[in-house]
Amino acid sequence: MSTLSPPEAATIPLLKAGPGRLLIGGEWVHAADGATFPSINPSTGETLVEIAQGGAADVDQAVAAARAAFEGPWRNSTPDERQRLLWALADAVAENYEELRLLETLDMGTPIGRRRPGPSSAWEASVLRHFAGMAVGIHGETIPNSVPGSMFTYTLKEPVGVVAAIVPWNRPISNAIWKIAPVLATGCTMVLKPAEEASLAALRLGELINEVGIPPGVVNIVTGFGETGAALAAHRGVDKVAFTGSTVVGQHIVRAAAGNLKRVSLELGGKSPDVVFADADLNKAVPGAALGVFFNSGQICCAGTRIYVERPIYDEFVERISAQAAKLRVGNSLDPQTRIGPLVSAEQLERVVGYLDLSREEGARTTVGGARLTEGDLARGYFVPPTVLADVSDDMRVAREEIFGPVACVLPFDTAEEVVARSNDTQFGLSGGVWTRDVGKAHRFARDLQAGTVWVNSYNVMDPAVPFGGYKTSGWGREMGQQSLDDYLNVKSVWIDTA
Ligand code: NAD
Repeated sequence: MSTLSPPEAATIPLLKAGPGRLLIGGEWVHAADGATFPSINPSTGETLVEIAQGGAADVDQAVAAARAAFEGPWRNSTPDERQRLLWALADAVAENYEELRLLETLDMGTPIGRRRPGPSSAWEASVLRHFAGMAVGIHGETIPNSVPGSMFTYTLKEPVGVVAAIVPWNRPISNAIWKIAPVLATGCTMVLKPAEEASLAALRLGELINEVGIPPGVVNIVTGFGETGAALAAHRGVDKVAFTGSTVVGQHIVRAAAGNLKRVSLELGGKSPDVVFADADLNKAVPGAALGVFFNSGQICCAGTRIYVERPIYDEFVERISAQAAKLRVGNSLDPQTRIGPLVSAEQLERVVGYLDLSREEGARTTVGGARLTEGDLARGYFVPPTVLADVSDDMRVAREEIFGPVACVLPFDTAEEVVARSNDTQFGLSGGVWTRDVGKAHRFARDLQAGTVWVNSYNVMDPAVPFGGYKTSGWGREMGQQSLDDYLNVKSVWIDTA
């Protein structure tokens, strides 16, 4: 039962109805064994509602429904039909965006004031519209060949089949839409497994998917824990896994997918460098680097957590980013003034606080933040304020491991060559940033960084037209952009003897 205050609960039909069901074959059903688990509000630690806990039997059912849809009329759906459905879903997302955001705020802790209210800011709707455009542009090629005689060759692009999409909790609406959009565009079908910490927005999306007439079984949603995801990753009826989450679980997925050699795409962790040269405009670089690391309480895969600052401006930068961090208001995510909400769960809180303790043991200097907030109402939730660690060295674990919390490590550097080498000295390669007024320096850094995205004099900017993904242990494949469709398509070569 919801423990929200009555006016808030009344605004959310999904919470009133109780979201304890799975979406399988277009029907909302209970888990086969009736199991549920609580969805927790991280701002208060209270239970919002019970969610269905899908098990192996539910995964079987959902995969069967996705297979039946794939082999049914959906297989012959035209690009034009799929475009229309993507547009319809985009409109529904935009119209219901306030409710989706509120659900995300409640179970994930995303501050409600983070984005401007209103459909015009419904970013995920624009992702769906972008994929609607791409849906009608998927085609093979005719390829001249050198075989003697009269052979004619062309390729067909065909949907891969049933996709298992397993996603984390950090951006519940986007994480789901980034998988749903390419599935619909390419003509695949899917079973979506939202994260156990934040399933509500995905369940609401399931309602919208039914409302706009996406055929039953094209998108199925099975909520649950890691075991549910593991059952999907190993399932022989699944043709592809699209996973976003931690590198460790990504490695499990690859092993589990080996049975029938599923196609696997992975969007994994990071420890991104953000480099500030002495010639940078600090009025831009300080708030930009702060946003780069503290946005979403640092629970962003591409967070710029290793901030390398050229030595002549190191002390000034530490002072200014610490002041900037102290200004960011921490509080209940439902408060429109809040800029930094809670961490998503008690487990995540424990993990981040563990790293803060470790930073002291390793000899880093905390200039702001550094401990859980326990005053007043905040004591009930999982709050850690923006934290700046100075005097960090590259070998410290806080500088090497992904913390996934609002923690910035600030490190001095002396030369451009040195900072590139240090930036690349990591298992990860998701993204990075550079702040400088020297265009040559910026291009050289962008060229030399081993990462899937580089921001120059900016950070965390994204667009549905621009590919996003990692090098090294940050992942395989790309999301967004034209290239993202390749992961959902098979290429078939056809040879015709025209003699
Ligand atoms: P996680 O890997 O623990 O969980 C992600 C999803 O996988 C959840 O739905 C979970 O239930 C499921 N899961 C857990 N164990 C599984 C298993 N053995 N088999 C199959 N599924 C399993 O990650 P998280 O803690 O939810 O999210 C944080 C991580 O996600 C961070 O490492 C972050 O960098 C990464 N992330 C990456 C991107 C990106 O685009 N590169 C985006 C967001 C988050």
